[in-house]
Amino acid sequence: MRAKLFRVLALLAAAGGIAAAGWVGTLRAQADLMEQGRRQLELMAPDLQSAMEKYETLPFVLGFQPDLIQALAHPEDAPTIARLNQSLQTIQQQAKVGAIYMMDRTGLTLGASNWDQPLGFVGKNFSYRPYFNEALHGRAGLFYGIGTSTSEAGYFIAQPVYRNGTAGGPVAGVVVAKISLADFEQTWRSSEHAIALADRHGVIFLSNQPQWRYRSLQPLGAATMQELAHTQQYMGQKVTPLSEHPGRFVARPVGRLGWQLMLFPAQTRVARAGLLWALAAFLLLSCAAASWWALHQRRRRLEERHESRQALQQAARELDSRIVERTQQLRETNQDLENKYARLKATEQMLRSTQNELVQAGKLAMLGQMAAGVTHELNQPLAAIRAFADNARTFLQRGQPAQAEANLGHIGDASARMGAIIAQLKGFARKDESICQVELAKSVRASAFMMESEFRRHGVALAIDTSPDAAAGSHAPGGGSGPDAGPDAGPDAGPNADAHAGPLLVAGDAVRIEQVLINLLRNALDAVEDAPQREVAITLARVDGHAEVRISDSGGGIPEQVAAHLFEPFYTTKPSGKGLGLGLAISSSIVQAMNGQLTAHNLPSGGAQFVLRLPLQLESTDASKHASHPH
Ligand code: ADP
Repeated sequence: MRAKLFRVLALLAAAGGIAAAGWVGTLRAQADLMEQGRRQLELMAPDLQSAMEKYETLPFVLGFQPDLIQALAHPEDAPTIARLNQSLQTIQQQAKVGAIYMMDRTGLTLGASNWDQPLGFVGKNFSYRPYFNEALHGRAGLFYGIGTSTSEAGYFIAQPVYRNGTAGGPVAGVVVAKISLADFEQTWRSSEHAIALADRHGVIFLSNQPQWRYRSLQPLGAATMQELAHTQQYMGQKVTPLSEHPGRFVARPVGRLGWQLMLFPAQTRVARAGLLWALAAFLLLSCAAASWWALHQRRRRLEERHESRQALQQAARELDSRIVERTQQLRETNQDLENKYARLKATEQMLRSTQNELVQAGKLAMLGQMAAGVTHELNQPLAAIRAFADNARTFLQRGQPAQAEANLGHIGDASARMGAIIAQLKGFARKDESICQVELAKSVRASAFMMESEFRRHGVALAIDTSPDAAAGSHAPGGGSGPDAGPDAGPDAGPNADAHAGPLLVAGDAVRIEQVLINLLRNALDAVEDAPQREVAITLARVDGHAEVRISDSGGGIPEQVAAHLFEPFYTTKPSGKGLGLGLAISSSIVQAMNGQLTAHNLPSGGAQFVLRLPLQLESTDASKHASHPH
């Protein structure tokens, strides 16, 4: 705002300065020109004056010429008049004046230098001219005017002609010399200034400005107008004031008729001088403004450079602090991440151990569940042993040693069977896992053996087909094969179906695989409990380098909402006390630990099928090396 005001003020000041310079220039030029004009007038006026004075004596001298006096005495004498004309003409030519002529007392022209010219003055009467009257009264008559016959302007000088040729005597006539001032006018033409010669009324009659001629500087009064008309000074010319006053001028009086020689300095020069001064001022101011601007710009550039340097330094400082800040933040984030990672590690560790504990817990829980079955299983041979022992004693008392020996053999068999059952339980409770080659058919048979009393108790048919390439459907539940494992059916007593194909061998822990299978069988048993048809089937298959154990049941299948949570720990649909919801979770993690997969789906017939899939171990080694259950 202030800068704008300053700029406006500066502009105004500059404009004022330029105008003032122009004005001063104009004034100075005007003064100079006036001075010059005055000097020019000083030179011009005496010229004019002396020219006029020079001719004043000519008519005076002529007045004493005998030719003139004689002609006045005998105006009717033609030879005298001829002689007069002749001598006037000669003198006129010699003196280089416009015309010389002589009038009698009435004003009638008797003789003239231009007698032989068509517009000659001879015979003309000029008594109305003031100069005639003056001379008639013995004085010199001076007059400027336009010739009434020739229409040529001139300065008339009239002198009396005395009758006896004696000055002061009676005046017989008047002799007049007419002088042209046109030459002066001619010399003024070269001047650039307007020059004018005005009479005592202010009427211009000579000028280098042709349009000024016979114009007055001021309007003329009525008396003056009348006088001009009477003397016919400017003949018919109507004298009007100049339409426009020519402005300032210098003047100087000339002659004895109150004339003024005037010089009007050329205004164009004044204007030009003013313009030049203004221009000079403008240039000066422009230069000053340009220098100021350059200085200002330079200062601003320096300031800007300084500012930008400071801004840069500030930015660098900010960047530095930002970097420090960000580094600190990153360090903290990093620390945070490390802490999180450590916590994650700890959690993972905890999960791992929890998982292991869960596996163990699951096993123990199952052990408890199995305890009832096992007790039942052991009770039978135990009762048989007692009965055989009692009978053997009786046979010995009766002296029947052969029968007693047979009974003792039965006792041995029964105890062997009990040993087998106990061995199973021992292996199941073991925690440490031992990875070795497992023949799946054996594991299937072992788990079926563990569960068979349960199945039998519930009256559920368990079909087992351990031939690896058996089609899944052929042993589906309801296939007709009833429970085929009796109390004598040990692991070695299973159907001998894998004779025509290599056994399915996988790498893993036999106990754990059996744990999984028992789990699946138990779930299948639970599933068919209330079903109209109560069948469970186990089959084996070889698929793409994998071995599969498929456990199918004729139960209600897995509902959709259950399927999503099937393998989640503690998810169960069973009443409390019956299910923990751990079975499938533990089984799945066991299978995954062996690089296998446990999946479930519903069969078209309605029941569920669980598939345990493990990678096949291709080398077929001696069966004796196989980890199998101790007998
Ligand atoms: P639990 O047997 O203690 O309930 P599981 O993890 O073994 O725990 O089983 C989880 C759930 O899966 C069961 O409660 C049951 O609803 C469902 N399930 C398991 N096996 C079958 C099956 N063969 N048919 C239908 N549902 C089953």
